[in-house]
Amino acid sequence: MYDEREGKLSSSYLEQADLCPGSWLAQRKALAADLVTPMSTADSEEGQRLHSVMEGQLEIEALDGNQVAAIQKAERLYQETRQLLGLRSHWDRLVAGPNEARELRVWVVNPDGSKLASGKADLMEMDDTTTLITDWKFGRLDVESAPGNLQVMTTSLAHLQDESHRNKVYALIIQPFAEKGHQTSVVLYQRSNMTAMYHRIKTVEERAMDEHAMRRPSPKACRYCLVKALCPEANAAAISIVNTKVEELAPQQLAELLERFEMATKIIDAGKARAKALLTASADAIPGWKLSDPGKKTTIRSVQRAFNVLRSVVHPEDMLNVASISLDQLSEAHRIRCGISKTAARQQIEEMLAQYDLLEITATSARLRKDI
Ligand code: SF4
Repeated sequence: MYDEREGKLSSSYLEQADLCPGSWLAQRKALAADLVTPMSTADSEEGQRLHSVMEGQLEIEALDGNQVAAIQKAERLYQETRQLLGLRSHWDRLVAGPNEARELRVWVVNPDGSKLASGKADLMEMDDTTTLITDWKFGRLDVESAPGNLQVMTTSLAHLQDESHRNKVYALIIQPFAEKGHQTSVVLYQRSNMTAMYHRIKTVEERAMDEHAMRRPSPKACRYCLVKALCPEANAAAISIVNTKVEELAPQQLAELLERFEMATKIIDAGKARAKALLTASADAIPGWKLSDPGKKTTIRSVQRAFNVLRSVVHPEDMLNVASISLDQLSEAHRIRCGISKTAARQQIEEMLAQYDLLEITATSARLRKDI
């Protein structure tokens, strides 16, 4: 199969390779041996759709309200940052301009001209001497901000190598869904930075390509790693949690342990998913384990249509007493029908229900959350 990265690390993998150098080869070997399959998450699929809109490949009407808000916010943050940097804007979501490139793969090369690593810039806009590289990130988890981000460092260096008459590259990361940390971050690279950038990228690449590269488990490194169910180091880290006497831990030790809980949960989930896949393919694949017979769940497709069909035999009040209504879904339906904003729709529904004392607010239990 054609590999546009030509067997080298892509810029988007460099951070992972920096955290766990052994993960690159471990995943390639497991994929080649059909031990794992590439993963697609709801977040990554959403990210691809939003990127397609930013590239003008997909109509914004194909998105839901939250996603449209994210696109609008990304565009606003982008325009604000351009103004702060004093750069002219060529960019239009729907029309590609002459001084820009979108989704262009660029290569960092070694002094002998051989290829080291590649990356794709979402948007690259050029002036006479200056370039702005913008990377839209639509994930919810914080990413490394622009000054330490190896992905934009790679595309920036590749561009400086390619275009010897350009002296400055601004690399901008916009992450509209980030709840904590930076939604916008920017770094300036100049020709004088090129040597340091090259050595940083080369070091990460070389370590990752080393057959004996260390595998270093951590919540961040293992989060999306395909081999976490097979990885001895990640499994050992998860097992060490089981042997911990939690009641004896000091608060600081507990803080570290909470980080590792997340990793252990991911490993457990990945292990269960792999076991299910193996047992689905062959009922005897795992000694002592079987898949239970799949159960059946019957649901009513449409409450409204069921109500119409059953009204002659079921009293309407009985029907309404057992139907549950989600405030979120009701507000969303009201928003779409009336063409009003999400906030206005929610407010109207809540105010009317509150007037008749039909809202009940109950306390939920506190959840653990990281305070960054
Ligand atoms: S599971 Fe974690 S430790 Fe193992 S290779 Fe992947 S990232 Fe590294």
